[in-house]
Amino acid sequence: MSQNLTLAQHRERIAAARESLAGFDSALWQAPSGGAPDGLAGLMSEVDALGAACEAAKVSITAEAMDRGETGDGAAALTVTQWVRAHAPSTRAGGAGQVVAVAVAFGKPVNAPVADAVRAGVLPVRSAAVVVAEADRLRPVLAQGAQPHVLAGLIEMAVQHGPRGCRMVRPALLARYGRDGRLQLEQDAAARFVALSQPVEDGTGVAEYRLTLDPEGKAVLEAALGPLSAPSPVRGECDLRSSDRRRGDALVQLVRRAVAAGGAVGTNPKAQLVVTMDWEALAAGVRGAGTTVGGSDTGTVLAPETVRRVACDAAVIPTVLGSAGEIVDQGRAVRLFTPAQTRRLWLRDGGCTYPGCSMPPHWADAHHLVHWADFGPSDLSNAALLCERHHTIVHQRRLAAHVVAGPGGDRVEWDLTRGSYDQLLARRAAQEPA
Ligand SMILES: [Zn+2]
Ligand SMILES: [Zn+2]
Repeated sequence: MSQNLTLAQHRERIAAARESLAGFDSALWQAPSGGAPDGLAGLMSEVDALGAACEAAKVSITAEAMDRGETGDGAAALTVTQWVRAHAPSTRAGGAGQVVAVAVAFGKPVNAPVADAVRAGVLPVRSAAVVVAEADRLRPVLAQGAQPHVLAGLIEMAVQHGPRGCRMVRPALLARYGRDGRLQLEQDAAARFVALSQPVEDGTGVAEYRLTLDPEGKAVLEAALGPLSAPSPVRGECDLRSSDRRRGDALVQLVRRAVAAGGAVGTNPKAQLVVTMDWEALAAGVRGAGTTVGGSDTGTVLAPETVRRVACDAAVIPTVLGSAGEIVDQGRAVRLFTPAQTRRLWLRDGGCTYPGCSMPPHWADAHHLVHWADFGPSDLSNAALLCERHHTIVHQRRLAAHVVAGPGGDRVEWDLTRGSYDQLLARRAAQEPA
């Protein structure tokens, strides 16, 4: 539109744009009502686009000033951020750091797509700063050649959903473009932060808790809370509880049910998880190709080994995606041990089967010795009770076990060598006719 103008001409037009806004409040009454394109909504978009263009221009000026070394000149040597604050006073209320961060990023060829999006006015500077920061954080853990795709994904999320969307897409990007096992590593590390605080009471009967969960814990809790925390109208009277209130009530209800169940084998399936997975990747087990868990649209991306463990003993509804992302199989038969099998398993194992553990049976999961994802059957000969902690360890260290016959009946024997499960799989593959 305004190409090849001299700087003097640009200055003139910038001044004109500013003047055009002077006193425009008194003309606002002329805008037609009812969402007409020349109405208030359209005017708002126009002014906003002007503001975004100004932000982008500030970044360009800052980049040029840094290039020339102008920011550090003068008697009072300023940092770049101070220089921006000194000459763009509106940034004193915040945002100067972001202008500088994006200006620095403009100087790196790898960030050219960010620069283009900012200059085109589609990516606000604030969002661009988050894109650049996230891209820098992801770069060292990406598979080779993945960087442009990841940057494009971050920009798209930032354009559509702002900085928050940009941060939320990290697990999905890691799953798709991260180095092998990277997502698993990160999510396993997140388990260290799991915590539930002691109640803080204010004396009026209100107790406040602080709960921190890893992605798996979040997926399980959300899947369980989902159906319980939906609004429940009674005889046509609507449920006026707030969403937070319903979630709180649902959590207490969950605990009540669990306590009431006592030591009995639950006849209802455990937490229902909807798993969207790339079957090849899950079966291969190493690469974390987008495995989304969650009953709602806001799914949680889980690392593959985690899904294998959750799939051992939760009602998992698998949705298998083909290479193009199309749904090829809704629900390969859900294969949980039946309540009758579980009762026999309780009698046989008497509790967690991990060497040295004494967790009683009703606190244990039924683990598939040959994982469900590796086509292990739901037979007692393929089952072992494990408490939550040892279930995690068995999957993380990929441990194998056998059911061996003894004088006192069948019992489970673990091979605690790291990776013994992979050796077992290799032996099985060697036995099978190709
Ligand atoms: Zn398991
Ligand atoms: Zn145990």
